[in-house]
Amino acid sequence: MGRMVVQLLVRDAGLEVASRRGIDRGGYLIEINRISDRWIERYFKLKSRRLFEALWTGRIPGTCRSNERWQGDRKCRDFCEVRGACDYAQSLKAKEWEAA
Ligand code: SF4
Repeated sequence: MGRMVVQLLVRDAGLEVASRRGIDRGGYLIEINRISDRWIERYFKLKSRRLFEALWTGRIPGTCRSNERWQGDRKCRDFCEVRGACDYAQSLKAKEWEAA
């Protein structure tokens, strides 16, 4: 079995704040513990099926797991491409407004 790496693309590469934090490239390859091809295939088939179900029915799938939300909901608050349509992300936003 070969190595497995993740490719990180740095969104704000080139900004001063990035260089202050030691980010000096636009992308990185980071070696990770190997994940089986079977597991990856099963995971993405599940996600694909949920996406198609949502598109066909108009019903939003349930909340993503904690590790998919980057523990602490950072992804839901600022980065997820579908947060505008996600009930969970909207509930986070509502709580922030209530607290403000
Ligand atoms: S915003 Fe919704 S769809 Fe996106 S990661 Fe969070 S829970 Fe998942």
